[in-house]
Amino acid sequence: MKSTQITANAIQLTRFGFVNCFLVREPDGVTLIDTGLSGSHNDILIAARTLGAPIRRILLTHAHMDHVGSVDALLEKLGPSNVEFVSNARSLPLLQKPPDMSLQPDEPQAKIKGGVPGIKSRPNKLVTEDELIGSFRAIETPGHIPGHLSFLDERDGTLYAGDSLVGKGHLTVSGFAPWFFPLPNFGTWHRPTALASAQKLLAYPIERFACGHGAVKPGGIPALRAAITKAQS
Ligand SMILES: [Zn+2]
Repeated sequence: MKSTQITANAIQLTRFGFVNCFLVREPDGVTLIDTGLSGSHNDILIAARTLGAPIRRILLTHAHMDHVGSVDALLEKLGPSNVEFVSNARSLPLLQKPPDMSLQPDEPQAKIKGGVPGIKSRPNKLVTEDELIGSFRAIETPGHIPGHLSFLDERDGTLYAGDSLVGKGHLTVSGFAPWFFPLPNFGTWHRPTALASAQKLLAYPIERFACGHGAVKPGGIPALRAAITKAQS
């Protein structure tokens, strides 16, 4: 996997040129945000070693295969009881094996898209809206898929956006990604909900966007506002 230092605290790991996960140094160890496709675990563990601390926490943004693919293998190697494994209540049915893809009555009744493989491991920590987990503020950003979470590192304003936003080309809202990178669009459950989540993010002190796909995007709130305007046009 390609390794890119993105902030003083964080490195981005990229597989096949377009699937990202992130290792972030925290006071008590390393936090991994998403786990890439299956087969990424050894590269992630090697990269974590360069940060000089054990992986203490795994945060999942959502249940798609390119984000949960290596979580079972990682937890097996790290020892599940040594790691805080974090998701939220809405994602649980999507994470079980086989996944339960049914929608809740208050959700838009659109079909959930993209590869949802389910995993064997169970999260041992469920976060709710606005909860602080380590250095990260958990923000519910549904739309790409129900239960999607973004995590804001409040120390430096880096938003780990999962697939709520896309970093290929200009920053875009998931479901409105550019023609040359349509993958997140094909996988997006409900575009109006994705747009509403992006609008919600305007209220946070974001400096840069570390997305599941593409390079880290600087530009803070003005860049997000431009992405929203583009989606609305
Ligand atoms: Zn993805």
